[in-house]
Amino acid sequence: MGLLDDKFAVITGAASPRGLGKATARLFAEHGATVAILDLDEEAAKAAAADLGDGHLGLACNVTDKASCDAAVAKLIETWGRVDVLVNNAGITQPLKIMEIGPDNYDAVTDVNLRGTLYMSQALIPAMRERKAGAIVNMSSVSAQRGGGIFGGPHYSAAKAGVLGLTKAMARELAPDQVRVNAICPGFIATDITAGKLTDEMRAQVLAGIPMGRAGEASDVAGCALFLASELSAYCTGTEVDVNGGSLIH
Ligand code: NAD
Repeated sequence: MGLLDDKFAVITGAASPRGLGKATARLFAEHGATVAILDLDEEAAKAAAADLGDGHLGLACNVTDKASCDAAVAKLIETWGRVDVLVNNAGITQPLKIMEIGPDNYDAVTDVNLRGTLYMSQALIPAMRERKAGAIVNMSSVSAQRGGGIFGGPHYSAAKAGVLGLTKAMARELAPDQVRVNAICPGFIATDITAGKLTDEMRAQVLAGIPMGRAGEASDVAGCALFLASELSAYCTGTEVDVNGGSLIH
């Protein structure tokens, strides 16, 4: 018996091999879900889906493009008939100081993290509403809650704080339709999002601020996503769940 038996789940940005989305996709599949991995590159998305076993799908989707989100969701509804779970995981970050943030930096970071979460949710909400069922999980960050200081700059903190606001407002609006919306705030997790730009000094500084004394694993976040996607969290909506090793206790 899996916690997601007979469920169909969509996870954005889940092609990155060591990423939070891929780890979540793997755990969801282990718990019985059929998973669609959406990412920028179609081949990478298909390869990641194949890696999960038979029956899972990989689709190209740029979450900053509304038409791309709508097209991916139309294809999934056509194939599966419904979608039960959406994990808005696609995200990018940049280690900039406030005065270094140019218009392009601002657009890139807020577009993927915040606009992408809105567009993918909008693509799926009508079908979830119609069935009066659904769980949406949004990937925010401890950077939103504590004002950065991990890796991403202020524009990243702002985008992820926007994700929290969007999560709570969507949760309130969609609750009467039995669609739950929750956010995860990961702390410092070992993935490739830092794109080789994390210096040893930055790493040591971040680790010194984590009471549990280690970086998180992608599986630590996946476990929380499984809880929020499954019926175990049936009465939770509008919550922000911290997965940060104690780096922010509030
Ligand atoms: P990652 O870089 O390993 O994976 C991110 C994925 O998003 C990549 O596969 C990338 O191709 C995809 N992506 C980027 N732009 C996209 C777009 N426009 N459309 C679709 N897909 C796109 O990163 P990760 O560490 O696994 O991060 C996953 C999520 O968790 C992100 O939202 C990130 O901000 C958040 N997060 C990560 C950490 C951490 O420490 N790793 C901490 C807090 C929050």
